[in-house]
Amino acid sequence: MEKIKMTTPLVEMDGDEMTRVIWQMIKDELLAPYIDLNTEYYDLGLKHRDETDDQVTIDAANANMKYGVSVKCATITPNAARQKEYDLKRLYKSPNGTIRAMLDGTVFRAPILVRGIDPVVRKWKKPITIARHAYGDVYKNTEMRIDKPGKAEIVFTAEDGTVTRKTIFEFQGPGVVQGMHNLDASIESFARSCFAYALSVRQDLWFGTKDTISKIYDGEFKAIFERIYEEEYREAFEKAGIIFFYTLIDDVAARLMKNEGGFVLALKNYDGDVQSDMLSSAFGSLAMMTSVLVSPHGYFEYEAAHGTVQRHYYKHLAGEETSTNSVATIFAWTGALRKRGELDGNQALSDFADKLEKATVETIESGKMTGDLALICDLPKKEKLSTLDFIKAVRETLDSMM
Ligand code: NAP
Ligand code: MG
Repeated sequence: MEKIKMTTPLVEMDGDEMTRVIWQMIKDELLAPYIDLNTEYYDLGLKHRDETDDQVTIDAANANMKYGVSVKCATITPNAARQKEYDLKRLYKSPNGTIRAMLDGTVFRAPILVRGIDPVVRKWKKPITIARHAYGDVYKNTEMRIDKPGKAEIVFTAEDGTVTRKTIFEFQGPGVVQGMHNLDASIESFARSCFAYALSVRQDLWFGTKDTISKIYDGEFKAIFERIYEEEYREAFEKAGIIFFYTLIDDVAARLMKNEGGFVLALKNYDGDVQSDMLSSAFGSLAMMTSVLVSPHGYFEYEAAHGTVQRHYYKHLAGEETSTNSVATIFAWTGALRKRGELDGNQALSDFADKLEKATVETIESGKMTGDLALICDLPKKEKLSTLDFIKAVRETLDSMM
């Protein structure tokens, strides 16, 4: 069989520990035999980040902006223990944070559904994707304990010297106050990322806030989403046959339980924090989630939602057999290859990505899986495989589909 050709390079960001081991296995077993892989390789492994004073992370993000699509392996965000372990010159920032700050985007996370690992909510038949705004609100707050009677105020001093003040509360006894903010520019780029993502997956977009209570703050989120929808996306949504639906956050929570899924749910920072943990647990595990950073400028970065699985890596180093789940990393590759195929009009590449995902799901549904899934799976016949044996089992399924 002739290998699939790639016209534009895919930006490849290698990473650390167990996920770095899995990365190579996926390339050797599931990609290189079928695709003439054309990647621009950046080694974001901690050692090489240190050697380059983290320049490699910046170079990788720039390459992502040049070519549009990247796939990233999980990486260590160093702390003091890691500094010692890797003899680092300094404590580097999280690569995800650096890349996100350069691409300016929103992270979308969706569960990967397989038969035998059923969502806790019986109604859910299709994945629900969470889009969480990642700036401001309670995560960048200023708060204060009040321990005697008095008036708490909110004061804005403009650069021109004018002062606006409002009373928060006249305290008779002790209590607490809090101030927080957000920016139109950040909300606008969040909105554009959500509309662009919903279009790219052809799913409805839901958005919820508490604008009935927070008329100005949450009201601004609602107004920005509605304005950008009308001005920039309504036509494309109608053409794609999808809808934008705004409702109150509590109504979202109630509808979520009665809906069969298959839509994108945009949420403010705190709502997204709570709901994404609820959804990932209700759907199964972090190793069964896809994760993609979508920039409003049209750049895409695909990754796994979990970390470098340090504990398994030390077992691997000690020569013990591991059973680490590679599904999220496989889907990072397929997501990136499918998007590359779409942008380049390379149907064979997109079709291959679809097939590899199907082969991965079918392998698990046939009862072959890693230990984490074997623990939560209801299939009557299930077999726990090692890290490499699972990947080889996926290859067998894939070959039988070719
Ligand atoms: P982790 O990699 O998410 O793993 C925590 C535990 O979750 C594992 O020990 C394992 O549980 C389970 N697990 C996670 N992924 C799994 C998989 N694919 N297959 C099977 N089990 C899986 O977190 P960590 O080991 O505490 O963190 C390691 C490093 O990851 C840290 O240095 C952190 O900075 C980095 N990190 C990177 C990213 C990223 O790059 N996207 C995200 C988060 C964390 P058992 O041990 O019980 O089997
Ligand atoms: Mg959380």
